[in-house]
Amino acid sequence: MDKIKETLHQLFDDFQNFEDKGQKATYIPELAHIDEDLFGVSLSCLDGMQISLGDATTPFSLQSISKVLSLVLAYNILGEDLWKRVDVEPSGDTFNSLILLELEMGIPRNPFINAGAIVVADILISHLKNPEEVFLKFIQELAQDTSIQYDLNIFHSEKSVAYRNYSLINLMKSFGNIHNDIDKVMDLYFMMCSVSITCQQLSKAFLFFANDGTHPLTQQQILIPSRNRRINAIMQLCGFYDEAGEFAYRVGLPGKSGVGGGIIAIHPGLYAVTVFSPKLNKKGNSTKGMAFLERLTSELNNSIF
Ligand code: GLN
Repeated sequence: MDKIKETLHQLFDDFQNFEDKGQKATYIPELAHIDEDLFGVSLSCLDGMQISLGDATTPFSLQSISKVLSLVLAYNILGEDLWKRVDVEPSGDTFNSLILLELEMGIPRNPFINAGAIVVADILISHLKNPEEVFLKFIQELAQDTSIQYDLNIFHSEKSVAYRNYSLINLMKSFGNIHNDIDKVMDLYFMMCSVSITCQQLSKAFLFFANDGTHPLTQQQILIPSRNRRINAIMQLCGFYDEAGEFAYRVGLPGKSGVGGGIIAIHPGLYAVTVFSPKLNKKGNSTKGMAFLERLTSELNNSIF
């Protein structure tokens, strides 16, 4: 533990001079307003110990990291039948690509590209009376923090420019893989992406992935161990879109990124760590976040491989 603490502090200092060639996301107009120099890190251990540095208590937009938690809800509802609607293969394509969807008859490659998460949102609408409320309560409970909320400015902003996401859902609807009204499904998808969260809250919320599916702080079983392993496997293979190989190679942990600048990574049996830095590389992943996690697992000489 001392070694982790020492390393995090050392790296955090080193990264003050990091030359960041990334650019913050601007395709969602509201995201363009964020201060691009924010930089936060929070690492939670299974015993509840948390090390937080920099802007770890500044909220940012959860965006695609929400796809992991919506998947947990849908997986627990449908079990293995879920995989009839969405596959578990890396896409090798951008997060909002249409190409494979046409070739593969409206079945998304995996739940962590936009098309896959939209199918997951459709499933939640089919099975839950108030999925929006269930999703928010779920995150609040995982992070043990009821201050976590949806950000309606982000929601409306994304919705106003979501031409590509609407084309994805229309294509899937034409193949019969969307069962509900498309506007209802998209609203849930945008809402889940709009959650405003801090590094501290996020590393705590994802801790159960490092503990065989049981939240170590509440002892609540969120996923049975086999499902937990499977979601970790999907994070490893698909969590960074067409850069999943690069993340596995450089960092060596399952994880998930979002265009809000957040990255969550899991070390099964040890910790969950969040890094937040808004500037993204061309694949939509935080440049500093990836570089920081690469240094972390290198210095600790410890990845899952
Ligand atoms: N809400 C964003 C979108 O649908 C999420 C993308 C992301 O974080 N990669 O485009």
